[in-house]
Amino acid sequence: MKLYYEDKYKRELKTKITDIFSEDGKCFIRLEDSIFYPQGGGQKGDRGYLIIDGEKHNIINAIKDENYNSVLMMEDTINPKYINANIDCYLDWNFRYKQMRLHTSLHLVHAIIEEVKGSKLDYPLISTIEDGFAYNKYDENSFDLSILTELEDKFNELVQTDSQVITYPDTEKGNYRYWQCMNYIIPCGGIHISKLSEIGKVKMETSHKRNTITIKISLE
Ligand SMILES: [Zn+2]
Repeated sequence: MKLYYEDKYKRELKTKITDIFSEDGKCFIRLEDSIFYPQGGGQKGDRGYLIIDGEKHNIINAIKDENYNSVLMMEDTINPKYINANIDCYLDWNFRYKQMRLHTSLHLVHAIIEEVKGSKLDYPLISTIEDGFAYNKYDENSFDLSILTELEDKFNELVQTDSQVITYPDTEKGNYRYWQCMNYIIPCGGIHISKLSEIGKVKMETSHKRNTITIKISLE
């Protein structure tokens, strides 16, 4: 079960290993239930560690398999005898929470630009979240640069509110999800914070070069 959607604040879990396999020299693990979000939508995969038979094993990334399930890439090789073993999972919460705050910030930026320009905005050319900062790059013809001041003012105003962020699956395509905040709806299968005030202290910087407009958000 994808517990990272059910309870995105869950940092620890007892569950069972369902599969251990190697590919390209790396060891991978599947779990019965997972709190580790697999990378996607510009968001990085979770990190953390597992306690297997009393030993700590680091998770260096979580990725999606062909069925959109989370698969853990391990730092070291795990003996296949631990398939079906009961284990303890620990999420690198500091890393994840920064990803959630930044990811939600980028949606908010996109939604505000749409509102200010008064029409639909094309998806960013690039949307990336690093550890501590994130940015969207738009084609320079996507919107007028004169709206950037209003974007920044509105963004700074909204991140101080308790406006709720909700996410939900598509009624037909279960792997397809939506992000909603106030009247804004964006298709996204990522992990987000629950209210805008959780974004906390961030800095917005904008730049215009090489035919693109970059809007960068950094955590302070
Ligand atoms: Zn999202």
